[in-house]
Amino acid sequence: MSNVRVRFAPSPTGMLHIGSARTALFNWLYARHTGGTFILRIEDTDAARNTPQAVAAIFAGLQWLGIDWDEGPMADGTTRGDKGPYFQSQRRAIYDSYVQKLLSSGKAYEFEGAIKFRTPKEIITVPDVICGDVQFDRTQEADLVIARKDGSPVFHLTNVVDDLEMGITHVIRGEDHLSNTSKHIALFRALGAEPPKYAHIPLILNRDGSKMSKRNEGAAVAEYPARGYLPEAVMNYLCLLGWSPKDNREIITMQEVIEKFDLPQVNRANARFDMDKLFWINGMYFSEMSLEDTVPLAEKILKEAKVLPADFDVNGEDRNYFRAALAIVKEKIKLAGELPEWMSFFFTDEFSYEEKAVAKVFTPEGLKLLKQLRDDLTEAPFDVVNLELRVKSLAAALGLKSGAFVHPVRLAVSGRSVGPSLYHMLEVMGRDRVLRRIDKALERFSKAQAAAV
Ligand code: GLU
Repeated sequence: MSNVRVRFAPSPTGMLHIGSARTALFNWLYARHTGGTFILRIEDTDAARNTPQAVAAIFAGLQWLGIDWDEGPMADGTTRGDKGPYFQSQRRAIYDSYVQKLLSSGKAYEFEGAIKFRTPKEIITVPDVICGDVQFDRTQEADLVIARKDGSPVFHLTNVVDDLEMGITHVIRGEDHLSNTSKHIALFRALGAEPPKYAHIPLILNRDGSKMSKRNEGAAVAEYPARGYLPEAVMNYLCLLGWSPKDNREIITMQEVIEKFDLPQVNRANARFDMDKLFWINGMYFSEMSLEDTVPLAEKILKEAKVLPADFDVNGEDRNYFRAALAIVKEKIKLAGELPEWMSFFFTDEFSYEEKAVAKVFTPEGLKLLKQLRDDLTEAPFDVVNLELRVKSLAAALGLKSGAFVHPVRLAVSGRSVGPSLYHMLEVMGRDRVLRRIDKALERFSKAQAAAV
C-alpha cells in the first residue's frame, strides 16, 4: 500500500452532480492506481443547506457507479475503515481546537465576536499537477473569517483541518476551487504543515460550451439508473471527460484505466459533456452484456413501466418466451430504458397501432395481401427460415417485393412500423399469437374501411 491518501469531499446540498461523480472517480482512480487510500468525507457543516436526502444521493450514486471507499461513513451510519465516519458535522471539537491553536499562536484574532485569520499579504503560488503554477495576488487580501459569531467554523477552515488531520496527500477537486487554494495554502503554513499536492480538474461544460448546471440533461447521477443506463458505461464515459488513454480508444475497461490513470495526463482544457456519445458507449456495453445478465435488468425496467405485471416470473412458464423476445430486441437498442417501448406488444394483444402506419399500410390492397399471407401461414413450419421463404415466394409469385407483406404483418402483430427483425419476431411470437393478431387487425381495419367508404 502506498502512502497516497485522497478524498472525495462533497457538500450534501442537492442531487449528486455528474461533475462531482467525475471528481469522485478521479480520486478513486488515483487511489486504486497508486494502491493508496480513498476517503469519503461529507462536508455537512452548513445545517441550513444540507439534507439527509442529499447525503443519501451521494451514497446511492457512488454505490451505483461502483466507486467504493476505504474510510468514511456508510449509509447505515457505521464506518468503513477504523477512523470514520467522516461527517464534518460530527467533528466540531477538532475544528474548535485548531481555531484555538491559531488564536494562541497569534495567527488569528477575535473581531466583533468572529475569529479572523491574519492572512499573509503576499503573492501565493499554487503548484498544481494539472494546471501548472498558478499565482494569486493576495497582497490586498482582507483577513479571512474562520469562525462565525456563533462559533461555527467556515468551509476553508474545516476543509484544511480535515485534509491535515486525515493526512491527505493529494487534493483532487474541481477547478472552481483553484482560487480558494491560495487561502488554504496560507492556512496550512500557519498551522506549520506542508500543504498537500493539488490537482484541479477542469470543469464540465455543455456541448455548446455553456456551463453545465443542475438543470441540464444528464446532470444528476440518479437520472442514469432511472433511464436504464449501465454503470460501466457511465464510468467509462466519465473517465473520458478529461482523461484518455494515449491511443484515443473510447471503450476501455476500468481495470485498464486504473493501470494507466495518472494526474499529469488529465486534460487542461474544459471537458464537454456529450449525451450522444454516452448513449453510444452505453450501446457498446449493452450489446456486450450476456442475455442472462440482461434478464434481471429488463425485468426491473419492464415491471416499473408496467409492461410486465409485478408478479410476472421471468423463470416461470414464460421463461423461454421472455428470453427469446428480449434477445431479438436487445440487438436493436442501445439503452435498457428503451425496452418498454420495444417489448410491450410481446406481452399483450391490446396494443395500439401507429396511426400513420395504419393509413399507409392497411390499405385495401395491404389488407388483401395480409389475408393471403395469413392463409399461407396456417400450415408451413413456423421458423425464421421457412417464414422468410413463404413471404418471398408469395411476393415473387405476385410480382411484388416482400415489403408488400412485411409491412402489413409487422403492423398487425406489433402495432408498429419498426421493431425487431420480422421473421425472428414472428417465430418468437409463435403461430397462434401471430394468426390471432392478424385476424384481429383484419377484422378491425377492414370494418373501418368499409365504414369509411
Ligand atoms: N465541499 C466542497 C465541495 O463540495 C469540497 C471541495 C474539496 O474537494 O475540497 O465543493
